Amino acid sequence: ALKKNTRLMAYHKESDEYQKRAFTLLNDLSDTLQHDHPGLYLVYQPKLHIKTRRVIGAEALIRWRHPEFGEIYPDQFIPLAEDTTLMRPLTEWVIQQAARQVRKWRQSGINISVSVNVTVTNFAEEDLIERLQRILRTNELSIHDIEFECLETQKIVENSAALSTIKKLKDQGFMISLDDFGTGYSNLNYLKNTPAHVIKLDKSLIKDMKTDKSSRIIVQHTIEMLHKLNYLVLAEGIEDEETLNYLGQYNCDQGQGYYFSRPLVADNFAQWLALHDTSIKS
Ligand code: C2E
Ligand code: MG
Ligand code: MG
Ligand code: MG
Repeated sequence: ALKKNTRLMAYHKESDEYQKRAFTLLNDLSDTLQHDHPGLYLVYQPKLHIKTRRVIGAEALIRWRHPEFGEIYPDQFIPLAEDTTLMRPLTEWVIQQAARQVRKWRQSGINISVSVNVTVTNFAEEDLIERLQRILRTNELSIHDIEFECLETQKIVENSAALSTIKKLKDQGFMISLDDFGTGYSNLNYLKNTPAHVIKLDKSLIKDMKTDKSSRIIVQHTIEMLHKLNYLVLAEGIEDEETLNYLGQYNCDQGQGYYFSRPLVADNFAQWLALHDTSIKS
């Protein structure tokens, strides 16, 4: 219901123009998903262990080079595609691409797991696990190679099918993160019964830490609470050394952000990794 409202408000605000563009984007996305996905690609952003600064994985983020509108970020088309039938083929493609990339990297001596962003609607698909296992088999990968970031976590409590898939994935040994912690509803109830290993603190919580004491208090005690609930904590949106240092003091486990690296296309990611590896060894 919230999503529909937001969309309606956007309609009013930007009226015909917005509506037309949204319609075009959805049509074009549908097209591109049916025809070998021209324009869609993934970028990869490293996740690091904060204490050691070692790379522990990468997050795959989707991009779309649109023939008319140019580079489009997911915030502009994922919300439109959500709650439509497009999310299924889109996520299928993302998992497939990520799996192929993990395999390619492995063949060139790079061992890294990749996490993909998945919405609650996707988790509710009955055959998600089967399709996932098929993709893993095709690429000769294991449960350790692909991880999941659960978007719109608040909705999980209302969706028993999604919850049961996430439970199964976790039981099978897949790593599960709950994304966007600290945004949207302030209801924390879902933490009591959502099976996951890692909670990702949204960048909106992190971005003012450097200058704002209240932000630091919130982050510090959030981390403490999440640790008591037996989660690992990842902070996203780390853009500078000071923020990183605070997070280290607060025992935050993992981090991600421009300070380490922006999301990069696969080849650039491999180059970044090679440089980074040398720098932590010395
Ligand atoms: P998210 O999963 O929470 O991803 C984090 C976002 O923060 C990414 O934006 C990333 O590029 C950005 N980011 C990373 N480090 C920094 C930083 O230091 N500073 C700032 N200001 N931003 C940083 P992006 O790539 O535009 O993705 C936005 C959202 O779109 C994602 O949020 C996720 O919810 C969604 N999304 C992205 N790729 C996919 C996908 O393949 N499937 C689905 N369903 N959703 C996706
Ligand atoms: Mg994510
Ligand atoms: Mg996030
Ligand atoms: Mg987000």
